Amino acid sequence: MRYAMAIDTKKCVGCSDCVIACQIENNVPVGYCRDWVTETVVGTYPNLDLEIRSERCNHCDNPPCVRCCPTGASYIDEGGIVLVEGNKCIGCGACIESCPYDARFSHPTEGYVDKCTFCIHRVKEGKKPACVSVCPTKCMYFGDLHDPKSEISQLLATRSYKVLAPEAGTKPQVYYLI
Ligand code: SF4
Ligand code: SF4
Ligand code: SF4
Repeated sequence: MRYAMAIDTKKCVGCSDCVIACQIENNVPVGYCRDWVTETVVGTYPNLDLEIRSERCNHCDNPPCVRCCPTGASYIDEGGIVLVEGNKCIGCGACIESCPYDARFSHPTEGYVDKCTFCIHRVKEGKKPACVSVCPTKCMYFGDLHDPKSEISQLLATRSYKVLAPEAGTKPQVYYLI
């Protein structure tokens, strides 16, 4: 089992429903976010395009946030999902500094570091992550890369895609269909 997410940049309209769904589902404190939407100009003049991306923790295969955590609070769970065990976290912030994607934040009232969990609590119940379940254009896909028949495996086998900051060597597992 290797959970991953694919997001079709050709179908994302930047509505931010994914961001709002995450905030409600995960009780994200006001002013913080586990996912966010970016807009980037791609291509070469005069063939320019606006790429809209819904971004979050990439649940990396080689996560520096886990390696640098002094207490073991940051760890890799079943299916490769990178999680934080709140009661082991001392809030030192080393993981925040080490993440090339700026995917983590210090929870303002709980004291531990927080981020996207791929909605593991929903996935364990057989549901999709909250962001995936609400996307009005159905441009988000979540599933098991080790299953060649899964929708996400099929998409990655047939579509062009990229990951963010591959040069960081973290082996991110959120794929952007381009
Ligand atoms: Fe894009 Fe879907 Fe998020 Fe809207 S909900 S910003 S379409 S990924
Ligand atoms: Fe860690 Fe950042 Fe990778 Fe998430 S995106 S697993 S926080 S390095
Ligand atoms: Fe938020 Fe869940 Fe989507 Fe992660 S998978 S961005 S926690 S809604």
